[in-house]
Amino acid sequence: MASSHLPHYDDQNYGTGAKWIKHLTKNRLDTFTGGHFADVNLSSVLFTHRLSDDQHVRLEVWSAPGLTKPSFEEAMKQKFKPAKKGDSFGPSFEFDPGCEAMIFGTDGTPLQGITGGYGGDRRVEYIIPREAVKAGKHSFIIESSCNGMFGVPWNGDTIAPPDMNRYFNLDSADLVVPNQEAWGLLADFTTLKEIGNTLPGNGSLQNKAITVANAIMNEFDETDKTSIARARKIAEQVFGKGWEQKAEGIYEEGAKRAQIWGIGYCHIDTAWLWPYSVTQQKVARSWSTQIDLMERYPEHRFTCSQAQQFKWLEQLYPKLFDRVREKVKTGQFHLVGGSWVENDANMPSGEALARQFLYGQRYFESRFGKRCETAWLPDSFGLTGALPQLIRLADMKYFFTQKLSWNNINVFPHSTFNWVGIDGSQVLSHMTPVDTYTAQASVGDIHKGITNHKNLESSDTALLVFGNGDGGGGPLAKMLENLRRIRATSNESRELPSVDMGHSVEEFFDSLLSESEGGHKLPNWNGELYLEFHRGTYTSHGSIKKGNRKSEILLRDVEHLATLASLYKHHNFNYVYPKSKIDDCWEKVLLNQFHDVLPGSAIGMVYKDAEQLYSEVSKDGEKLIEEALSALFPAALDITDPSIKSTPGHIIGYNTTFFPRRDVVALPLTGAASRLKSQVVQTSKDGSVGYALMDAAGGEGARVSKSRGLFADSMPVSVFSNGSDHFVLRNSSVQLTIYKGRITSVLDVQLDRELIAKGQTGGLVIFEDRPNYWDAWDVEIHHLETAHPLEFSNLEITAEGPLRASLKAETTYGKSKISVTISLDAIAATLKHGSRSLFNFDATVDWQEKHKFLKFELPLDIHSGVATYETPFGHVQRSTHKNTTWDMAKFEVCGHKFADLSEFGYGVAILSESKYGFSCRGNVLRISLLRAATAPDADQDMGKHEFSWAVMPHQGHFLESDVPAAAFLYNSPLHVRFASDESLAAPFMSASPPFTISGDHNVILETIKRGEDDDFKKNTNPTVVLRLYEAFGGHARVKLRVSPDFHVVKATITNLLEDELEVLGVKTDNDDLQSVKLDFRGFEVKTVKLTLGSKTREPKRESWVTVDA
Ligand SMILES: [Zn+2]
Repeated sequence: MASSHLPHYDDQNYGTGAKWIKHLTKNRLDTFTGGHFADVNLSSVLFTHRLSDDQHVRLEVWSAPGLTKPSFEEAMKQKFKPAKKGDSFGPSFEFDPGCEAMIFGTDGTPLQGITGGYGGDRRVEYIIPREAVKAGKHSFIIESSCNGMFGVPWNGDTIAPPDMNRYFNLDSADLVVPNQEAWGLLADFTTLKEIGNTLPGNGSLQNKAITVANAIMNEFDETDKTSIARARKIAEQVFGKGWEQKAEGIYEEGAKRAQIWGIGYCHIDTAWLWPYSVTQQKVARSWSTQIDLMERYPEHRFTCSQAQQFKWLEQLYPKLFDRVREKVKTGQFHLVGGSWVENDANMPSGEALARQFLYGQRYFESRFGKRCETAWLPDSFGLTGALPQLIRLADMKYFFTQKLSWNNINVFPHSTFNWVGIDGSQVLSHMTPVDTYTAQASVGDIHKGITNHKNLESSDTALLVFGNGDGGGGPLAKMLENLRRIRATSNESRELPSVDMGHSVEEFFDSLLSESEGGHKLPNWNGELYLEFHRGTYTSHGSIKKGNRKSEILLRDVEHLATLASLYKHHNFNYVYPKSKIDDCWEKVLLNQFHDVLPGSAIGMVYKDAEQLYSEVSKDGEKLIEEALSALFPAALDITDPSIKSTPGHIIGYNTTFFPRRDVVALPLTGAASRLKSQVVQTSKDGSVGYALMDAAGGEGARVSKSRGLFADSMPVSVFSNGSDHFVLRNSSVQLTIYKGRITSVLDVQLDRELIAKGQTGGLVIFEDRPNYWDAWDVEIHHLETAHPLEFSNLEITAEGPLRASLKAETTYGKSKISVTISLDAIAATLKHGSRSLFNFDATVDWQEKHKFLKFELPLDIHSGVATYETPFGHVQRSTHKNTTWDMAKFEVCGHKFADLSEFGYGVAILSESKYGFSCRGNVLRISLLRAATAPDADQDMGKHEFSWAVMPHQGHFLESDVPAAAFLYNSPLHVRFASDESLAAPFMSASPPFTISGDHNVILETIKRGEDDDFKKNTNPTVVLRLYEAFGGHARVKLRVSPDFHVVKATITNLLEDELEVLGVKTDNDDLQSVKLDFRGFEVKTVKLTLGSKTREPKRESWVTVDA
C-alpha cells in the first residue's frame, strides 16, 4: 500500500543520475574565493564601495626620527604633512601599511591594532563607529611601526638577522563599505570547506559539507546580489536552521559537555626578533584589539600572561590599562601564568624561579585583586623538575604547556597528566593535543584536539588555545565566526567534537580535576620535561648566561647584607632596607630570563638591551652592598682605596654563604695596596699580585674571614716542568699533568688513583656546529661526529706556590685566541673532611669563529650509567648511554653550577660559574663553553669572553660528596675589603652569627631577605624570610638557630608568596639561642618567616649598638 507522504517514484528514468567524481568536486571548492577567478567569484562582491580619493580619506603623516618611539602626546605636538597611498615609510623599526600599526582615538585612547601585509595574521580593517557614520566625519590617529609581526626579516627567512633598511608601502587607506552578507557567505564556505578537508575517510558530514559547498557555488551569481542570501540558506543544511540569529546562544544548544574548550590567547614574545621597546607597542595593539572583539563577541574570553607586559601597559598606555582592568572585572580578560615573564625554565636558579612567581603574583594581586591559578609556559624550551613544587608554593595547582610537541626524536606520551616534580609535588598538567598556542580555530584544530589526544582512555577534553601569536595579534573575528559555525555543526552532527566558549582556563582545569577524580585517573610524568630540541640554548650568547648567573648571586648577596644591615644598624641607624631598589634589580633580571632572551635566541639588538640591564643591576647591586657593609662595619674600604696606606687594619672577606670556608684570594700589591705584602702568603714573580689565605672556618655561619698564614693542614702546591711539553701541578691531595698540550693525567695523590681513562686525554675540543635549521637554538646530535681536540701551547708557569701554583697556556684555532690559566691551591675545595683540591681554569677567549662549538672534556676512568647535573633547588640524573631513543635525545643537557660523574667510591665534577651546557657520553664529561651561530644574530658571541670552570675530584659517590657546597662556594666569592683595626673591633665582628643551620648537612640555606610586607621605614616588628632546600634528594632534619641578638616573636612556614601556612614552635636554650626544628623531604623547599620583636634585655644590646648622631 502506497503511503501518501512519500515522493512519487517514476516508472522510467532517462537521465544520468547524480553520482559525482568526489575529488573533482572537492578541488572545485578552491576556485570560489580569490585566485584566478577573483574578478568573478565570491571575492569580487565583498565590498559595495571603496573610496580613497581626498574627498573621502584625508591622510596626514609625521615620521618619528631614527628608532625613537615618541608618546602619543609628543607625537600630537608635531607638524603633520599630507600623505597618500603608495607612500613608503621607514626605515625599519616600525598601514594596509604593510606593517604593524595602532589606531588611537583623538584623545589618545588606543582602539585596536593593525597587522598589514598578506600573511595569515593580516588585520587591516577598522570599523567606523555608528555615530561617526551619522556625523559624516571621523578622525583617528594611526601609529605605524616599521616592522612586521616577526620583526623586519619577514619577507625572507623568519630567523634571518634583521634588515634595518626595510621600507614599508602604504598599500591601502580606503573607506570601504563591505557587503556583510557576502562576508557571511565567505565564512560559511570556509567552514564547510574545512570540514570537507579535515574529516578523514568517507563520513556523512564530510560528504554533506562538500555537496553543500558545491551547491553554494552553483547558486552564486556575481551579477545577482540576491543569490548570496540564497546561497547562505543552503549552508543551513550543515549549520542548522536559523543558526546565525542565535549568535553566541549557539553555545547553549547541543552537547551539555563540550570536548574542546576554546580560549583566546596572544603569545607576545617579550623580545625576540624585535627589542623590548617594540613589545610594549605590540602589547597595546594586541590587547586593545581583543577588547574591541569582546564587545562584538560576548562569548570571547582572552587570557594573558606576563606581569611585565601589564606593567608596561600601565606605565605607557594608562587609558588602555583601565579598559583592561574593566574587562578583568567583567570576567572576559583573564590573567594567567602568575610569573613576571614567560621565563626560560632551564637556566634560572631556584630562587629566580621563586621570584618569577613572587613578583608576578604580587603584581597581579596588587592591580587586579586576584592571583593566577594556572602556571603557563607554552613556549619555554624544556621545564625543570623543580617547577611542580614551586608552582604549588606559588598558590597554583594547574600547568599548561605545548612545547614538547616540538621534540625532534620522541613523541611525548601524554596530553593530560599529573606532572610530578623531583620532590614529589604534583601539578595537574595539560599539553594541548592541538600542538600549538597559536591555533587558527579551524575545523582541523578542533578535530586534532581529540584525534591527537594521547590519554583518551582517562580524559577526553582538550584546550584550544587560539589566536595569532609570537609577535602578538591574538584572535581574529574570523576565528570567532568559524567557531560559532563549528559549534552549530556539532549541534547537528556528532562527527565533529563539540567546542565550547565563554570559559576560563581555570574552569577547564577544574573540570579535569573533577572528571579525573582529583587526578587519580590520569597518568603521571616524573621529573623534568626535557625538550628534545633547542639544546644549543644552554650555551648561545655567553654574555647573557654570565649576566644571569652573576646577577642572581649579586642580588642574593645584596638581600643578605641589606637584611642584616637593616636589623643591626650598627653604624648607620638611619639605614633603611632598600626594597624598591632591590625590586628594580630583580625585575630587570627576571625580564632578561624571558624564553627567547636568556636562551640566546633573539636578535643582536636584544642583547644590547639585556647587557645594559645587567650593567645597571651590577652597578646598583654593588652600591647596595657598599651601603649595607658600611652600615655593618665602619670604614671597610675597597682594596684599591688609596687611604688604606695610612690606616692600620687587615684584609677581610665577607662570606655570604652559610658554609665555613677557606679561600685563596689574589690581591693587587701595587699603589697603596703595596702595604698588604705582609698579609699575603705568596707574591707573584713580578711582585704585582699577592695571594692571601682567607679563613672563615670558625663553624657554621662564619661570616668574616681574615687573612692568615698557612695552616698545619695546608697542602703546599708545587709546579714543575720537564722541558717545554710536560707540566705538572701538584699538592698532597691531587695532581694534574699536561703532556704535549693535553691533560694526560689527573691523579688522586692520597689514593694513588688515576682518574683519566687509559690512552685518552682531556682538554679543549672543537666541534662543527651546523644544526638542521634553528641556528642559535639547536646543536644537533651529529656535531658529536666532528670532534677536533685542541692542544694547549706556549705553557708557562705563572705562580709557583706554596699557596697557588698556576700554568698559563694558549690555544689558537682559526682566527680565535684562547688563553687558559690552570691553578691549584694549597686548600681543599671545602672544609669537609677528606675534601680534595680543585683545579681551576680561568679562560680569556677572543672568539672569531662561525658555526663552531668549543667545549672542555675529560675522559674519566669512572663507569656509571648516569651523570648528575645541578638543577634549580636540586639535581637530576641523566643516562650516559644510548640504550633508548630517550637516552640518545639527551646528548646535550642543562646544568647549573655542577655536573658530576660518580661510581661507587669516587667521582669527578666539573663546576661552572657562568655556563649551563653539559654532556656526559659514556665516560667523557664535557662542559660547553662557546657557540657561534649566525641567525638570528649574525655576530653571536663574536669577541672577548672571560669565564671559568673547575675540575673537582672527590672520594665517595656524588651523594656522599661536598660537590654542591663546593659549587656554591665557587660561585660566591668572598667580598674582600680592607678593614681598619677599629672596624675589626666593631660589634658586628664579635656578635654571634645571626642565622645558622645545624643538623643534617644536606640542607642549604639559600636566601635571607626581609618580608615583602614589612614597613621598612618604621621597622617595627621586622620580618626575615629565609629560604632553605634539601639538596641531595633525601630526608633531613635541621635546626635553624637565631642569634640571641634577636627576639623571635613568631616563626612560620610560608609559601613563596609569603602567605603564612604553619606556625613553628620556637625553643630557647640555655645560651639564649632560639631555634626552630625543620623536617625536610628530598628536594623540599621551605620558606621560614621570622617576626622579630624588641629584645627584653636592652642593656646587653646597647653594649654593642652604635647609634649614629
Ligand atoms: Zn615564545
